[in-house]
Amino acid sequence: MPVRATKRGAERTRFASGAAVDVLICGASFAGLAVARELRASGARVLVLDRYEIGERQTSACAAPTEWLVNLALGDSIRQTFGSLLVHTPQRTARWALPWTFSTFDYRTLCKLLWEQSDAVFETAKVEGRVGNVVHTDRGSVSADLIVDALGWRRVLGSGANVQPPDAALSRGLEVHPSGRGADLELWLDRRYVGPGYGWSFPARDELRIGVGSFDPRVHVKDPTLTLAADVSADAVRFQGNWIPHRLRPAVDDGIFFVGDSAGHCLPLTAEGIRTALYFGVACGRELAAVLDGRQDVGAALRRYGEFSWGHRLPFACMYAAQQSVRRLHGPAMNGLVRAFGRRAVSHWAFRHYLDIAPPSAALPAPPAARGAAAVAA
Ligand SMILES: Cc1cc2nc3c(=O)[nH]c(=O)nc-3n(C[C@H](O)[C@H](O)[C@H](O)COP(=O)(O)OP(=O)(O)OC[C@H]3O[C@@H](n4cnc5c(N)ncnc54)[C@H](O)[C@@H]3O)c2cc1C
Repeated sequence: MPVRATKRGAERTRFASGAAVDVLICGASFAGLAVARELRASGARVLVLDRYEIGERQTSACAAPTEWLVNLALGDSIRQTFGSLLVHTPQRTARWALPWTFSTFDYRTLCKLLWEQSDAVFETAKVEGRVGNVVHTDRGSVSADLIVDALGWRRVLGSGANVQPPDAALSRGLEVHPSGRGADLELWLDRRYVGPGYGWSFPARDELRIGVGSFDPRVHVKDPTLTLAADVSADAVRFQGNWIPHRLRPAVDDGIFFVGDSAGHCLPLTAEGIRTALYFGVACGRELAAVLDGRQDVGAALRRYGEFSWGHRLPFACMYAAQQSVRRLHGPAMNGLVRAFGRRAVSHWAFRHYLDIAPPSAALPAPPAARGAAAVAA
């Protein structure tokens, strides 16, 4: 198990009694850091909490559309860029041309670059729960008028009981990170590894990120990951895994803003959740900024951000339906689909629509007249 950097011993002092800030962002990964970035120069007291130091906890293969990274000035974190996907079934291999590129990146560098674009304060603390607008942590309590849960799939600050696997709408993913090089982003649609899911190998310059994801939380992925790593002659070292929500959840609840995995913002069929965490993080941050500079009240921000997130329910539902059918398609149907996407016109059409669910233009600065999430949707 890696030892994560966090404040320990005498450094782990208690927060001042009655500590209060204007905005409290819980979670300092893609979603939380994207929210904080939008609040720069707001003049507000913005506090970001995470149980680990920023950039410490990578659980993903860290691949995202290049344009998203560039538009957020995160280009220096990029390790390798790909213009196609190499997709394998047991019977065939096809190259799917992309109309845009994916890049793998270094998680620690990306988080550092995002954080440098905000002027918030950061503290390590484990968030334990909430009563009203007071958030309880292992270092004491903090209150805020605006509270963001960017804590990932556990949705710690939600009202009611937290979702728990295996009954919740969660996928599971596990990968290994051996040293090695590769030229392609590769996917395996192969029942030998997993029926309801897929395997992958994402090269990142001198490292490979090889793993298996299952859309069925009851289907374990450790043995399939070991098998895939062995099949591509890679060492099964440096394991990383997590649960991945695959259904949209209310993005506002009981006065709290939920962003990224805590709102189920990960795309169900592909388990691509970085781009969407950034996308909804930007949208949420712009709504909060409009509250801080007096353009709207908290109620309006909650309503507008909730509607913005829910407005994406159709593509999420379609991708969920496709996800649920994967396990039944293995064989001739899957081979036919993989071959069809090997045609440039088909793959370009599909991946353009796919990118449009959370387009990179949303990362660009909002035009002066636009407000909040509307600026992202524009
Ligand atoms: C194996 C695997 C590979 C993946 N590969 C990709 C990929 O290549 N591309 C892609 O787009 N998506 C990928 N995903 C999905 C992606 O990782 C998630 O959708 C994304 O990380 C969601 O971002 P987030 O900021 O919402 O949550 P997270 O990245 O999960 O961040 C949550 C943050 O909250 C902190 N936290 C959690 N609980 C507490 C607590 N109680 N107190 C304090 N802090 C807490 C955590 O330390 C963390 O920093 C992958 C997922 C898995 C499991």
